[in-house]
Amino acid sequence: MNQNLPSWIDLHLHSTASDGELIPADLVTAVAAAGVKVMALTDHDSVAGLAPARAACAALGLQLVNGVEISCRREALDVHVVGLGIDPDHPALTEHLGAQMARRAARAQVINTRLVKEGIPDLLEMASAGAPQGIPARPHFARALVAAGICKDEKDAFGKYLALGKPAYVKMDWPGLEEAIGWIREAGGVAVLAHPHRYKLTRTKLDLLLRHFRDAGGNAVEVAVANQEATSVQQLADFCSRYGLHASKGSDYHGPSMRWVQPGKMPPLPSRCQPVWSLLGILEPNS
Ligand code: AMP
Ligand code: MN
Ligand code: MN
Ligand code: MN
Repeated sequence: MNQNLPSWIDLHLHSTASDGELIPADLVTAVAAAGVKVMALTDHDSVAGLAPARAACAALGLQLVNGVEISCRREALDVHVVGLGIDPDHPALTEHLGAQMARRAARAQVINTRLVKEGIPDLLEMASAGAPQGIPARPHFARALVAAGICKDEKDAFGKYLALGKPAYVKMDWPGLEEAIGWIREAGGVAVLAHPHRYKLTRTKLDLLLRHFRDAGGNAVEVAVANQEATSVQQLADFCSRYGLHASKGSDYHGPSMRWVQPGKMPPLPSRCQPVWSLLGILEPNS
C-alpha cells in the first residue's frame, strides 16, 4: 500500500535540463497547479534549469530551492545524492558537474555502440536532439527507442536494453559517495540520500549505506518518494531517528508520460521525522 497525498513542498523534480520532459517554466506551472508552495528543481548533474525555474517561480509565487541530483557510487552500487540549498555558481561545483557531463557524453557513445551491436539502427542523433547540451541520458535513448518503434514504452526500453544487466547498460566510473556529499556541502548545500528504497538492498546493506552516508557528512534521507510503500517510509523514518538524519520528501516527477507520478504527490513524512526544510530555514505554512 502506498499513499500519495498532496503536499505543500516537493523537494525532488526534473526538467529538460536533465531527463525531465518539461522545460523549467512548464514544470513550475505544473507544480504550482498541484498546490505546491515550495519546490526544489533537482536535475541530474546539472543546475542549468535553476535560473529559468527561479523566474517562473517568482511569477507564480512559489519558493524555489536550488537543487541538483548527483550520480555517484558506493562500492558496486550506483547511488544518487540530492543537494538542496546549493550555490549554483559555486566554482568547484560547476567544475565537478562539468566533469559529470563529460562522463555522460562518453557513456552516450558507448550506449549507442552497444545498441548498434544489438542490431538497432544508430539512434545517437535522435537521442541527442532532445537532450541537455546534446548529451543523452538513458531516458533519452529510451525515448528514441520508442520513437523508432523498437520498444513500446520507456519501461520496455529499460527492461530490454538500458537497465543494469541489460546489453546497453554501461558501468560508470562515477565519483564516490563521499565526494558527491563533499561537493554539495562545499557549495553550501544539504546532502540528501535519494530514494534509498530503489536500491533494493537488504536491511543490513541499507543500514551500512545509511551509516556510511551519515559518517561521510550526509544530512538527510528521502523518506518519502511518489508511490513508495508505507512500510518502506516507516523503515526509513526509523533509520533517520537512529542515525540523527533529517528527512526529505519529493515526487521525483519527470513529466506527464509517467502517469503514475504526479508533482507534489507522495506519502507524508511520519511525525517523528525531523524535516530537512528546517535546515533550509523553511517553515511549513500555518504551522
Ligand atoms: P542515467 O542518469 O542516464 O543513468 O539515467 C537514469 C534515469 O533513468 C533515472 O533518473 C530515471 O529517470 C530513469 N530510469 C531508471 N530506471 C528506469 C526504468 N526502469 N524505467 C524508466 N526509467 C528509468
Ligand atoms: Mn531521472
Ligand atoms: Mn534518482
Ligand atoms: Mn530524480
